[in-house]
Amino acid sequence: MRKKIVAANWKMNMTQAESARFVESMLLDLGDITDVEVVIVPPFTAIAKVMEALGKAQNIKVGGQNMYWEKNGPFTGEISAALLRDLFVHYVVLGHSERRTLFGETDEIVNRKVRAAHEATLRPIVCIGETLQQRDRGNVDKILSIQLRGSLAGLTPKELQETVIAYEPVWAIGTGRNATPAQAQEAHAFIRHTLHQMADETTAERVRIQYGGSVKPENAGELMSQPDIDGALVGGASLDPRSFVQIVKAARDR
Ligand code: PEP
Repeated sequence: MRKKIVAANWKMNMTQAESARFVESMLLDLGDITDVEVVIVPPFTAIAKVMEALGKAQNIKVGGQNMYWEKNGPFTGEISAALLRDLFVHYVVLGHSERRTLFGETDEIVNRKVRAAHEATLRPIVCIGETLQQRDRGNVDKILSIQLRGSLAGLTPKELQETVIAYEPVWAIGTGRNATPAQAQEAHAFIRHTLHQMADETTAERVRIQYGGSVKPENAGELMSQPDIDGALVGGASLDPRSFVQIVKAARDR
């Protein structure tokens, strides 16, 4: 049985004060939740504040939004897996479509980062997904297969099992237009099938696959009741503690 995982990707939003207020409000409802894994992914500048506000609530994890693959050195503006671990961060989002589109990240770059994250015992949340044009041309499976095999190349079955995949159709991110539960389930089943081919059945069954793309309280329940949807990566709706809490509760009730 895979434990659902719901992550709040705050992107380039939230000051330290806003972050602390969010966590205080969220803890009123989720302070003792253990049957869903909850991950807050703040900007780097708010990580320490989020940790402080979480206090003893060790059931809630924190993630980074990106990292560089080198361990340390002359890489101005970058942050390493070890520096994230130093802040007690557990997860790191890698290969988000905004990184791929705006900052030129390829599957090879994502793969370097994924391997460096595992080396530092940081768990990657690896984002993949097709554009609308690729979907319209009937290339969804082809694109997902290329991105999966490229981004996860060289991982052991254990590392794969400790990796979270986020299926995020690019056309659904920040647009208000989510994939239908059936469209998302079809993509998730294909991803699991590809993981089986890349590794083995046990591994494929253990990997958690989140859906991301305009998840909100109104659609979260139906999406997360699909058999291969193991949680959500939430952007816009994660900036409001009330809607984020509702999405987490929808995951718990599935
Ligand atoms: C995201 O950024 O990962 C995302 C899914 O954003 P939104 O929920 O706003 O579509």
